[in-house]
Amino acid sequence: MPSVAEIIRVRRHQPYYRFVAHRYRAVANTDQSRWLARHCSDTRFVKNALLEQFKLYNPALGATPGPAERMRELADARQALPWLREGSSAVQQQAVRDFDRAVASFFAGTHGYPCWWRRGIHESFTVRDVKLRRYDRHNAAILVPKCGWVRFRLSRPLPVEYGMARFTMDRAGRWHVSFTAPQPIMLRTVTGQTVGIDLGVKATITTSNGERLRAPAPRASEQQRLRRLERRKARQRKGSNRRERTKRCIARWHVRQADRRKDFIEQTSTRLVRENDVIVLEDLKIKSMVRSARGTVTEPGSHVRQKAGLNRSIHQQGWAMLRHRIQDKAATCGVQVIAVSAAYTSQKCSGCGHTAPENRESQADFRCVACGHRRNADHNAAINILAAGTAVTGRGGTAGSSGPDEASISAVAA
Ligand SMILES: [Zn+2]
Repeated sequence: MPSVAEIIRVRRHQPYYRFVAHRYRAVANTDQSRWLARHCSDTRFVKNALLEQFKLYNPALGATPGPAERMRELADARQALPWLREGSSAVQQQAVRDFDRAVASFFAGTHGYPCWWRRGIHESFTVRDVKLRRYDRHNAAILVPKCGWVRFRLSRPLPVEYGMARFTMDRAGRWHVSFTAPQPIMLRTVTGQTVGIDLGVKATITTSNGERLRAPAPRASEQQRLRRLERRKARQRKGSNRRERTKRCIARWHVRQADRRKDFIEQTSTRLVRENDVIVLEDLKIKSMVRSARGTVTEPGSHVRQKAGLNRSIHQQGWAMLRHRIQDKAATCGVQVIAVSAAYTSQKCSGCGHTAPENRESQADFRCVACGHRRNADHNAAINILAAGTAVTGRGGTAGSSGPDEASISAVAA
């Protein structure tokens, strides 16, 4: 047995990288997709049956059935139900194990109560014994029960080590296979650069260097197409084939937009981590509170508010993802990520430090009432964020409390 000191020493030499999904597009033929869909519905059936059983659990009646007994119950159910017997036992057994893990995570407090799996939303299943075959640089295949070899596109290298594989179908009917593996190590050279980042609605990202980046949004012609599809759907009879086809088109539209946003996030986070040794971000929770409080005053009218709220929720989703990806990638190559309080970063002058709400000439422009310093408001905030972050590290990571504009450190990934 290694001593505790030895374990700690080993841990210190093995940097922890977050596990992320390595997802590939699967190309299934008609026969295979039918079986893949069947595996998904079997998984739903098994999980929902177990959920019903779990809900009936009463401590007074004794312990719930253990994993071994659950497997026996599944075998009995397969005996009793011929249609269930037609499905793959390997897939159904894995659904039992997945449910066991969901329950364990629920009791551990890391996850919520297991949910009811619904058709069209929960379309996935797990393959336990992963067997892979590589055809060439761009194509590989995975062995799936009842399906044989299902080909998938190697859009990026396969992870060196991986666990189980998970098949998912998105709203647009596309199949994906994903493996859970650590975030790949990013190779970079030390640049000596530091950057502060302001996340906003007008420009998604404004850096302290004055760079402004916008997340892709649907073009006017695309928005028009969506409106036309929505109108067509409204005219069509419920349950008709034509309506189903229109619904698929709408789903594809949304999936394409989401893909584009995700691509922007991946490319931007990689570039920021590659170019900078230290990245300072603002604490998102505080920021969203500041923003929403401001929004109620400047944007009256119920319809406007609704729309603004929706836009903000989409943006917040993007911000959270961007932050996670920056932290994931930074952790693999020693880039420091600092989160600072966003309070007063939009009111403080980056030139002289004067903090006043009157400094904001408009939503977009900043003009200091003390020294006349002018700048784009987001750029000014980004500079303040960078300054707050460097102040924190300069003092050895302890947060000061001498004023309201002092930065408080809340997360450091090194
Ligand atoms: Zn000033």
